[in-house]
Amino acid sequence: MIFPLVLLNSDAVKTGWTCKCPKCKTGDLYKAGLTMDLRDTCKSCGLDLTKNDSADGPAVFLIFILGFLLVPIALILDSMFHWPLWLHACIWTAVALIMTVGALRPLKAYIIALQFKHRSSDWN
Ligand SMILES: [Zn+2]
Repeated sequence: MIFPLVLLNSDAVKTGWTCKCPKCKTGDLYKAGLTMDLRDTCKSCGLDLTKNDSADGPAVFLIFILGFLLVPIALILDSMFHWPLWLHACIWTAVALIMTVGALRPLKAYIIALQFKHRSSDWN
């Protein structure tokens, strides 16, 4: 039961949600604008952010989380309102795109914060 508690570490959640540096928690993690590109170093503490290795983790988590959430909701709404298929396609495509774009940056920052905390040897 330790594994879920590690994932829900409140410090990492806060750092991820605000997209801040995992070390100082004040410097911005991403370059300016709506980009997924990380800064090379933190402007506040100088942490070398090129050493992170989140890889496909954020995208895989989003696929599982959104699939787990959206498919049952779509099925429940279909059974309740009997929407036509084209309406489901329009609504769920838009919802999935908005939630993916909105959650990808914080989720990547969250995974980087977890890596910084639990795999600190990678950052030295
Ligand atoms: Zn920093």
